[in-house]
Amino acid sequence: MANGSSNKSVVLSDVRKSYGGLQVIHGIDLTIEEGDFVVFVGPSGCGKSTLLRMIAGLEEVTEGEIAIKGRDVTDLDPSERGIAMVFQSYALYPHMSVRENLAFGLKMARTAAADIERRVAQASAILKIDHLLDRRPGQLSGGQRQRVAIGRAIVREPDVFLFDEPLSNLDAELRVSMRIEIARLHRELGNTMIYVTHDQTEAMTLADQIVVLRDGRIEQSGSPRDVYEDPANIFVAGFIGSPR
Ligand code: ADP
Ligand code: MG
Repeated sequence: MANGSSNKSVVLSDVRKSYGGLQVIHGIDLTIEEGDFVVFVGPSGCGKSTLLRMIAGLEEVTEGEIAIKGRDVTDLDPSERGIAMVFQSYALYPHMSVRENLAFGLKMARTAAADIERRVAQASAILKIDHLLDRRPGQLSGGQRQRVAIGRAIVREPDVFLFDEPLSNLDAELRVSMRIEIARLHRELGNTMIYVTHDQTEAMTLADQIVVLRDGRIEQSGSPRDVYEDPANIFVAGFIGSPR
């Protein structure tokens, strides 16, 4: 077993994905260290979401293996992987209060009521939304709604957080403040976080490790500074260097 080392959080080994015979992810090898903030970045259609969804267990892996915390999860259900995915805020249930939105997944998983209450209180304190628990999503600002969406992941107490372009439907100003909020969250929680974006600024400011993808392949992986100062090729130089 090569994946036994305890400081490895997520390990992808020759992961491939095909849709109807057309391969869109071509043999990805990647090691993510425990507690790192890793950003998958690249142009639209390069395979960021597909890769993230395979880690989440929302898409089947065509070939290869995925391990989380040293355990092969390739064939496990999403609920068995110790991950939680943060969706865009419009995925909230409009007819439920914030408290009910936060508790819903835990209720479905038959978590004990006292445990649910504790987790909801903890998550809403971290996200500073404790005063909003009785409101409905329609009574919240965009930033508050996005906090609730993140809260739904936090209450699950996952090993690994997965984000797929969580800020892309927010306006520019709110994107900046939520980006700072997510960075703070990572510092406070210390979990491994994998974050997908096509926004170079988000990638450069959030990442410990940046993974630049093109056409289902990794073009370069490293610290933002290394990728910026020593791009592997002209594509990376152009993509990271260019303004949005
Ligand atoms: P990104 O998130 O980087 O924009 P995606 O992972 O969504 O890229 O898509 C990667 C490639 O896989 C694209 O060419 C896309 O058209 C294709 N693809 C994604 N999902 C499906 C699907 N369900 N069926 C067929 N092709 C898909
Ligand atoms: Mg995508």
